[in-house]
Amino acid sequence: MRQCLTSDLGGYYTATAPSETDQFGARGDFVTSPEISQIFGELIGLWVVAEWIAQGRRSAGVYLMEMGPGRGTLMDDMLRTIRNFPPLAKAIEAVYLVEASRNLRLAQHKLLCGGNPLSENGTGHESTSRYSKDLKIIWTEDIRFVPREASKTPFIIAHEFFDALPIHVFQSVPPAPPPSQKQQQDTIQTPTGPIPSPRRIPKTNEWRELVVSPKPPHRLKTDEPEFELTMAKAATPHSMYLPEISPRYQALKSTDGATIEISPESQAYTLDFAIRIGGSNPAPLTQPEPPRTATSAPLRPVAPARKTQPFPKPRPSGAALIIDYGPPSTIPANSLRGIKAHSRVSPFLSPGTTDVSADVDFLALAEAAVNGSPGVEVHGPVSQGRFLGAMGIRERAGQLVERAKEVGMGGKGGEGLGEVVERVESGWRRLVDLGPQGMGGLYQVMAFVPFRPVEEGEVRRRPVGFGGDVRV
Ligand code: SAH
Repeated sequence: MRQCLTSDLGGYYTATAPSETDQFGARGDFVTSPEISQIFGELIGLWVVAEWIAQGRRSAGVYLMEMGPGRGTLMDDMLRTIRNFPPLAKAIEAVYLVEASRNLRLAQHKLLCGGNPLSENGTGHESTSRYSKDLKIIWTEDIRFVPREASKTPFIIAHEFFDALPIHVFQSVPPAPPPSQKQQQDTIQTPTGPIPSPRRIPKTNEWRELVVSPKPPHRLKTDEPEFELTMAKAATPHSMYLPEISPRYQALKSTDGATIEISPESQAYTLDFAIRIGGSNPAPLTQPEPPRTATSAPLRPVAPARKTQPFPKPRPSGAALIIDYGPPSTIPANSLRGIKAHSRVSPFLSPGTTDVSADVDFLALAEAAVNGSPGVEVHGPVSQGRFLGAMGIRERAGQLVERAKEVGMGGKGGEGLGEVVERVESGWRRLVDLGPQGMGGLYQVMAFVPFRPVEEGEVRRRPVGFGGDVRV
């Protein structure tokens, strides 16, 4: 997935060949919510405003951060909304955009900064907002380049970002049957016949990784993908440790054929979000022993524990909002897919020109966050339909329609009044559609906010959109 999506050599997002169109919209491969309706970004902007109010209206040191901003539409709609709340707009020190694609970075710059110059800095690029020359917009290719300071309040948005991060796939297989000669040795001869020896071979399943392999030439057909998923013949470094990191995976190990998808990179990202909001766990007093395995030398070093500096944050602050496609509580399986021209295709079709994505495992992201920081709590996931409904999507659409009628004019690009009304109406309804294939039910929303122990007689605060209200 990494190679296909973000490789320097012709990745789907990173290919540098000039192109007339990008990946989005009717002429691209898929349409995302901010491209369907401006209300999506406006309500996410409002969510940030509500959290900022709920956390005591910090007057400085706020970072707005977005992972994989696409065309920049969501951030633009958010910034336009936040401008209506001047104390927050003033408190925003910088907007950080984590973006791997050069072409999309240029598109985001054009939308968010207009004609303001784009310059290189030590870790990426920067410019200033078209809304305010005091607001810096900074691009990096990885969240690790975004400064982490305990005094800052980061509001982090990730919409349709995690489904683009690579997954590993594992399947539980029963242990190989013992060779028949051995079977004989494992029986005890008695006058009434052989009885199995009590020394039985332990019957525990093992995880095998499903890996991408070239198809053998005799099965290769014209116009069919050259690659396929096959099961590794033996344990791989990843299959030895990744499925062991959570009780959710361990619980499936004894089920023959159980398939699980794990995205360590996604978990590393949400761990990072959580630490920025709530600080890291205190360092253990003694260093734990590195895990030992019964096997001989690994094929290559297995994910060496990165030495990370402890990051205490005495006053947790900020929030993260994750919106993506995936099951609300189960572990995704068989979800790797290709998308081309709005249709689902094999993920192995024409690598680098097909979008490849996988369902997001929301509970795995939540687990990484709460295990990694003592200062965050997780709310949701709730369906996008419910979240946007609670945020007031219907009311906002009504407002836009009323305004268009009052002005009595159409929108940009020669749109007539009727067309504007139709676009607003069909747009918001599409985002909240709870039908079987509707975006309202297929997309989930999850939030990380600062953890606050609930005192006796107190009710836990819920963020707006997750059952909470704003108290202004
Ligand atoms: N959030 C946008 C775009 C979603 S598409 C929207 O909703 O419209 C995924 C985005 O993530 C693109 O901008 C893509 O270039 C970016 N991206 C994908 N993989 C990435 C990675 N590993 N690191 C940084 N950005 C990545």
